Amino acid sequence: LFANPRNAAAGSLRQLDPRITASRNLDIFFYGLGYVSALEEKTHFDALQLLKQCRFRISPYVELKKTIDEVWDYCQKWEAEQRQLDYEVDGAVIKVNSLEQQRILAETTRNLRWAIAYKFPGEERTTKIVGIVVNVGRTGAMTPLAILEPVQVSGSIVSRATLHNEDEIRRKDVRIGDTVLVHKAGEVIPEIIKVIPEKRTGQERPFHMPDRCPICGALAYRPEGEAVTRCTGVACPAQQFEKLLHFASRGAMDIDGLGPAVITQLLQRNLIKDVADLYTLRFEDLLTLDNFKEKSANNLLNAIERSKDRPFPRVLFALGIRHVGEHIADVLAEEFGSIDELKKASLEELSMVREIGPKIAESIVSFFEEKSNLELMEKLKKAGVRLTSVKEEVKAGPLAGKNFVLTGRLEKYSRGDAEELIKAMGGTVSSSVSKNTDFVVVGEEPGSKYDKALKLGVTILTEEEFEAMLNPTTSFT
Ligand SMILES: [Zn+2]
Repeated sequence: LFANPRNAAAGSLRQLDPRITASRNLDIFFYGLGYVSALEEKTHFDALQLLKQCRFRISPYVELKKTIDEVWDYCQKWEAEQRQLDYEVDGAVIKVNSLEQQRILAETTRNLRWAIAYKFPGEERTTKIVGIVVNVGRTGAMTPLAILEPVQVSGSIVSRATLHNEDEIRRKDVRIGDTVLVHKAGEVIPEIIKVIPEKRTGQERPFHMPDRCPICGALAYRPEGEAVTRCTGVACPAQQFEKLLHFASRGAMDIDGLGPAVITQLLQRNLIKDVADLYTLRFEDLLTLDNFKEKSANNLLNAIERSKDRPFPRVLFALGIRHVGEHIADVLAEEFGSIDELKKASLEELSMVREIGPKIAESIVSFFEEKSNLELMEKLKKAGVRLTSVKEEVKAGPLAGKNFVLTGRLEKYSRGDAEELIKAMGGTVSSSVSKNTDFVVVGEEPGSKYDKALKLGVTILTEEEFEAMLNPTTSFT
């Protein structure tokens, strides 16, 4: 038996040699359909029956429920009977049955909003808290972490558990030396459920959030009404470490070879203080690092150099502005086009942008209010990092110089195909409608881009008109 079936399955699939994967005797329940053209089934349940008819294995325990009480009874029943299955489960998934409703629910956001997991409480074990340390993150958030006597929980050894914040520690009355009940939240993240007070000896010590950052010594600050305490040191090495790690990560600047060990040494030896300093590193600097030889030093320098070519949205994401993830970085880059324009944007202007809520807007404004961040932007600019969207040079083609925005579902083209076609013919595609938009192509059930196009008086194309534009020689009836 494998200790952790989830890891065993994932590890088997990752094998380079498919024969090893085959030898593991994995099995599967199919639980949904991806894209199907002209699907006659109108519900998820019927789609599963179709899968079954096509001889895909589906779970024999899928049931259709009419009321939330029935759903609840189902979850309760399986919570009690889960061990009777000959495989491990960690919960049940409740799904909206109508495929039409599923589509509508998922349309406005990337998150699935038509399905939710009901997790069964996982395995619980007792262990002892030997200490509490404070971890400082990229945004300066100070998170208390319990150091545990190692204990086996749901298939792996657990020796640390997050305590989230000060309030959480007070609420659970967790003290150093306490015996506690632990489990893995969602079968993944180790968490302390509660203290077992009967095991107390009187030797336990309460934990106090330090009033200074344990790494840089700057004052810790907990804003009124917030649960999180933050380090206020702008040059905090702990914050810089996390910022650098994020900056170099794959979705961001993708700097190969710049991992935690190298970053730690660069900071410790004062070779860099912030992300912009990476671009001033010299060959001789790198040779002083552990295990660095001529080849590895050159490789890292080249990787850093290559990162200057990352497009602006990725640079924006790499900066690690709070609440600005990959997608929001795309939206901002599209709307503002450069760091200088973004810097000038007011709270109101930012809030007007689709998908930018007050929280994101505030975070961006306060990022540019911080003097050290402005200095950082200047340093990055000097280094040659892309802080503006390079306007794609106007290509030749029938659509040259024309900007398109797509909204709604097209009958004949996927979103990606339509974009490719436009670009191939010399046009450009944006994600939001502005005064620079030439055409808005409107499919089935368009979003708010359609309303904005009407308001701005942008030319609106139906799918047929769009198609005629792509194929100027074809006539349609
Ligand atoms: Zn600090």
